[in-house]
Amino acid sequence: MATKFLERTNAWLESALDALSPASCAACAGPCGGKRPFCVTCGDPTPAPAWELEGVPLVTAGVYRAPLESAIGRFKFGGHSELSRALARLLAPRIRPFLFDPVAFVAVPLHRSRLVERGYNQSALLAARLTRELGGRAEPRALERVRSTDQQARLGRDARTENVRDAFRARPGLVPPRVVLVDDVVTTGATARACLKALKDAGSEVSLVAALASV
Ligand SMILES: [Zn+2]
Repeated sequence: MATKFLERTNAWLESALDALSPASCAACAGPCGGKRPFCVTCGDPTPAPAWELEGVPLVTAGVYRAPLESAIGRFKFGGHSELSRALARLLAPRIRPFLFDPVAFVAVPLHRSRLVERGYNQSALLAARLTRELGGRAEPRALERVRSTDQQARLGRDARTENVRDAFRARPGLVPPRVVLVDDVVTTGATARACLKALKDAGSEVSLVAALASV
């Protein structure tokens, strides 16, 4: 009862803030009209081709280049955690056709040291926001990163796979039977594949991988 009331209050506050604050572009922070996440100059993301990881469909908001690349950079490295909202709204329509009931969103986890450094896990924020757009629940503790890995961006394809091998573990009792895995950027898919394996080993079925962008 109290939860429902809080949800309704939050939704009301958000629409009030929408009406009061001028929207800014997720990529360049310039003025941006209406409910669109990007301004006219930045334009819309380029749709990414359909892709599968270990037989699991992957959906994204677009290709990892402007304007998505700038928006994700601000979200992930620029401290703009509030962009989770605009980016979740962009991704939600791509996920909707694959939804099942009940849906559980599980984010690719950060290692504790990186979480401390950044202050938040961008994929976990996105997963939480997606529940607001699509319903269902987020299970932020289902996966843990058991060892710190080198930044994937610095590595080649084979090194990436090796780098994340056995880096993730599912927490017993916290893994939903069917999940949507949430990631930020899928490059070679090595990280998402390692998470898929950890979830599968724990008896979970992953119906969809949803990422903000793919290369
Ligand atoms: Zn812009």
